[in-house]
This record gives sequence, structure tokens and C-alpha cells, in this order.
Amino acid sequence: NNEVNLMERIKMKSEDLFKDAKNYLPGGVDSPVRAIKPYPFFALKGEGPRLFDVDGNSYLDYCLAYGPLVLGHSYPPVMEAVGQQLLRGSAYGVPTEAEVNLAREVVKRVPCAEMVRFVNSGTEATMSAIRLARAVTGKKKIIKFEGAYHGAHDYVLVKSGSGAVGLPDSPGVPEETTRNTVLVPFNDEEAITNLVEQEKDEIAAIILEPVMGNVGCIPPQKGFLEFLRKITSENDIILIFDEVITGFRIASGGAQEYFGVTPDLVTMGKILGGGFPMGAFAGKRELMERIAPQGDVYQAGTFNGNPISITAGMETLKNLDKDYYRESESKGLQMRRGLGDILEDAALEYQVAGLSSMFQIYFTPTKVWDYAQAKTADVEKFNTYFRTLLANEVFIPPSQFECCFISAAHTPNDIELTLEAMEKGIKAAE
Ligand code: PLP
Repeated sequence: NNEVNLMERIKMKSEDLFKDAKNYLPGGVDSPVRAIKPYPFFALKGEGPRLFDVDGNSYLDYCLAYGPLVLGHSYPPVMEAVGQQLLRGSAYGVPTEAEVNLAREVVKRVPCAEMVRFVNSGTEATMSAIRLARAVTGKKKIIKFEGAYHGAHDYVLVKSGSGAVGLPDSPGVPEETTRNTVLVPFNDEEAITNLVEQEKDEIAAIILEPVMGNVGCIPPQKGFLEFLRKITSENDIILIFDEVITGFRIASGGAQEYFGVTPDLVTMGKILGGGFPMGAFAGKRELMERIAPQGDVYQAGTFNGNPISITAGMETLKNLDKDYYRESESKGLQMRRGLGDILEDAALEYQVAGLSSMFQIYFTPTKVWDYAQAKTADVEKFNTYFRTLLANEVFIPPSQFECCFISAAHTPNDIELTLEAMEKGIKAAE
């Protein structure tokens, strides 16, 4: 069958490379989700919507490096601009005109952004934004939603039970740190109202992914973001939208433009670096002016504002115009409707989730509005679906709790081909 064929095909090099990798890299990889079982395929190159492996296979790619490659792999204008920049150097340790231009572009697009600090990853962005929120409010606690991912740093590496003070997800994270991180279910206004009533004098910030993209894909319920805006404004709490995934993806100004709700601070990454390492946080001037050296809240980085990432980010944003967002909506719809039609005929209970270029399916009869509901999905069925897709040359993130992305390089025809593979995947999961 297809699955066996695939394993045969990728066996030679990828399997050997993975064995070798495990001698030198913990788990054979540099980030946990990449450790696909029994072994991952090793990349050779990416081109447009496709990823090619070292064994001569190619895949229509809906993982897209977990989000940054909004224009597809190796988009020529981005590669050319980066090539030109490389000839002039890769890091300077002094400011560049290009970083001012990119900051201006971010301010132009993103409603809450009046000033920007460029960093190197989404992790650094959320860590710094939380520090800033704590500094300006003089309070310590942050509210985070169960299942939300804001990077790998200590403040946010918790997902324990509803309303409970967080317990670390990882050894090595001091309990004292996560004691100040309070968990609530997404889309649960009552839980937040109760918490804020009791602890408003201690809560510095609410941080959220406005569309959750690290538990599959969960949009906010109607009115939820407006509710968060109101309750934070009334209680001297900083509202942070973590738009590392949604930023520049679902609208030019991200989720805050898409839903018409403006937070105090925003964190960004992925697309902003055009396929190179990058993060940023931005917000209202009076908050951002607290950042060093203008203000007293420390933040620094050797590679902050790195000219390669800045160049790739700028070139990428140039291509994200009205046509891009319109096509993104229509390709997303094509994918989700196609999936819905296939699943409608299958002997399975399911949910199809997503918006714009984001999508995911859950094999569950339960409507998915929060983490606990996402957890009702049948992960075994998902794994069968994933492996069948791979055997049919379609690569999606290898976890039920990630989100799939469509790039500008995917054509409606690619999506039709993908849906044929998905039909096989869903049949296999039945
Ligand atoms: N925030 C969100 C919403 C993310 O999805 C991620 C990464 O997937 C991060 C933060 C962390 O970003 P990075 O992996 O660049 O550190």
C-alpha cells in the first residue's frame, strides 16, 4: 500500500541521516515537532508550493516551515533581494535605513503599531512584550489561554487546568516563574470575568493568539475579542495579540484588522522575516517609549534588525497586496469546502476549521472552540490521514495540534490535487 511504498522510497537517505542525526542532535532534530515517526524526510530544496527531499520525492507543502513561507518556497524576488543584500554584508551592529523602512511599513499596516522593536524570533517577541506589560502596569500576573503557544520561554510554557495558576510544562522552568501565569479556556468570557474581578490588581496582561493556531485552528467566537478589549481597558490590563501566525496573513494588518479590535501591543514573526529568522513587537507609542534605550525596560540582541531578515521581510510584504488577500480567502474557501464535501460523504464525525489561508480538520463530533474540545479529536485517525497524505505527496504539519497553511504559490489546481489525496487520507482513517 501507499504507506509502505513511501517508507521504501524515503528509506535510503532519510532513514540513515536520521540515525546519524540522533548521535549529534537530541532526538535527531532542532525542534521537537520535526521528529516525525518513524523518521522525518530530510529536505533537499523548496520551490514554489513544493518541498523536495533527499530521496527524490516531492510534496505539495502545507506546513511551509510552520508559517513564514507565505509566498511559497524560494520566491525569486525575495531570494534576489537577499542575494543583493548578502553582497553588502550580513550583520553590521549599527542601524540601517532598511530597518526604518520596514518599521514604517509595519506601522502603516498594523492598527496598534506606532513603534516597533525587531528581534529574532516569536519567542523573543512575546517574552519582551510581557516584560513591557509588567513594567508599565507594575503588576506581575499574565492571563494565557489553555493550549495557546507563545514560544519556548519560561513565562508562557504552561497549559494547566482551567483558572488554575500554571504549573510548568517542562522541567527546568521554576514554579516561581509560572506561578504568575494564569490559564483560562479560550472563548470563555465568564472565566475571564471572574478572574479579573478577583485579581485585577495583580494582572498585567492578557496574551492571546486571536486565532489559535497551535491547537489546530480555533477562531474567536463573535464578540470575544471585543469583550477582551473592554475588560482589559477597564482594569488597567495590557491586551497583547500574539500575531506571530496571523500577522500579515489573514489581513494586511493581521487579526486586529480582520476582526476590527485593536490591542495595546502586538507580537509578530514568521511572515515578517520572509523566511529568515525574525520577530518583532510593536504597540502604542507611550508603551513602546518605555523600551531601552529610550526608556528603562531592557531589551537587546546582537542580531536584532538583521539586514538579511529585514530585506526578506520587506520584499515579502511588497507582495502582500489586495490581490494576495483576496486570493488567499478564495483558496482557503476552496480547501475547506472541498474537505467538508469529502467528509460529508465519509462515515466519520468531523469539524473543518480555519479562515483565510489557515485550515485544519478534527475527527470529533464536538464543535471546537477551546483546547479541551480540540483534545476530543481522534489523534490516531489524524495520524493515519497524515501518513496517507505523505504517501500521496502532500505534506501537512505532522500533528493534529498544528495549523495548515496555503501559500500564494499554491494554485487552485494544486488544491484540487491535494483534495484528491485528502480523500484517500480520510478513507484510510474511516
Ligand atoms: N507565538 C505563536 C503564536 C507561534 O505560533 C509561535 C511559533 O510557532 C511563537 C509565538 C514562537 O515563535 P518562534 O518559533 O519564532 O520563537
